[in-house]
Amino acid sequence: MEPILLLAHVEADGTLGKPALEALAAALALGGEVSMGLVGATVEAAANQVAGCGAVRFLGVSGEPFGQARYATDAAAAEALCRASGAPLVIAAATSRWARVLPGVAYRLGGRVDTHVTSIAAADGTLAVSRWFYRQRMEAVLTRAERPWIVLLEAGCVAAWSGPADAAAVEAVPVGGVETRTTVTGIEAPKAGEQTIRPDAKLLFVAGAGWTKKQADGAVHAAEAEALIMGFLRAAKASLGGSKSLVDLSGEGEAVLHCMTHLNQIGQTGATPRHPKGLSTCCHGEEPHVVGWRFVTERRAVNLDANCGWARGKADVLYVADAFEVMRQVNRLL
Ligand SMILES: Cc1cc2nc3c(=O)[nH]c(=O)nc-3n(C[C@H](O)[C@H](O)[C@H](O)COP(=O)(O)OP(=O)(O)OC[C@H]3O[C@@H](n4cnc5c(N)ncnc54)[C@H](O)[C@@H]3O)c2cc1C
Repeated sequence: MEPILLLAHVEADGTLGKPALEALAAALALGGEVSMGLVGATVEAAANQVAGCGAVRFLGVSGEPFGQARYATDAAAAEALCRASGAPLVIAAATSRWARVLPGVAYRLGGRVDTHVTSIAAADGTLAVSRWFYRQRMEAVLTRAERPWIVLLEAGCVAAWSGPADAAAVEAVPVGGVETRTTVTGIEAPKAGEQTIRPDAKLLFVAGAGWTKKQADGAVHAAEAEALIMGFLRAAKASLGGSKSLVDLSGEGEAVLHCMTHLNQIGQTGATPRHPKGLSTCCHGEEPHVVGWRFVTERRAVNLDANCGWARGKADVLYVADAFEVMRQVNRLL
């Protein structure tokens, strides 16, 4: 196996995040020589955190400008680390920070990049990566002859590396003369009041447009719908997903669930999260939505309509029932 550089940026608290530790575990599993390349305002704490991982070198680009996500500084840091290590294979977690920068770095190095990789394997000493195409409908296994080859590994595909912290000796890699036109002045969080997207949750709870439609009494019950959904999310520590119809409603002036934003959308034009279980409510189960459930293996749905899409082989269990009634009872039991 060719030598590998594991690129990681340090989080705001100075440590390495879970995606970086997952990428590290994937790199170590290949059996080759692994060097760490760290970027951050300071990198010592992060290096110490993974000192026992068996990496042969710890290279670091540090300083105040590298503490913030910014294309110019991140690209310069990553390029310098790749050149300093000379590793033909570079693996990094597909965080938004790296995903934005590393294709450009591959270009600067005259190498290649593959994004959205979901598994990495070594077959006869050759690296092969898997990724999905066409919204997770087809899976391909790729190898490449060009070097350096940068691979961005999606989060949640590998168990994160863990081990005792120790003292690591970091070799400082200089990065000179980066011109920046971007100043980071602060962070604005999305307007959703409460964090409803929890990638590590065991359960994905999906709400569909039915929650905001007229019910048997001829009235809309959006406020109760919101209370039932939020009550369930808090009690079950589930992650909240929505159908496109529901997340679009706010833009159309209809009754809305305030907990729902476009970030919650699951499906072809939304997200494809990885939760072991899923529960769909008031959602019809149409293919453009269900394609986002590719990695949710145990599925249940609640719908008034016995002929909804979930009944057609898309869920393991369909409860033909009123979701208001079902969730009231479920919340009571929880
Ligand atoms: C190119 C393209 C891309 C798309 N991408 C996506 C995507 O990424 N994600 C996505 O979700 N959709 C996507 N869609 C839209 C998708 O096809 C559907 O229109 C959408 O998923 C429907 O949302 P829904 O099931 O919530 O709403 P509806 O179809 O309105 O279904 C509401 C359901 O609620 C049920 N219901 C109502 N009241 C109750 C109750 N009290 N108890 C139980 N059930 C009840 C009804 O029986 C009904 O089945 C896409 C479409 C296209 C053309």
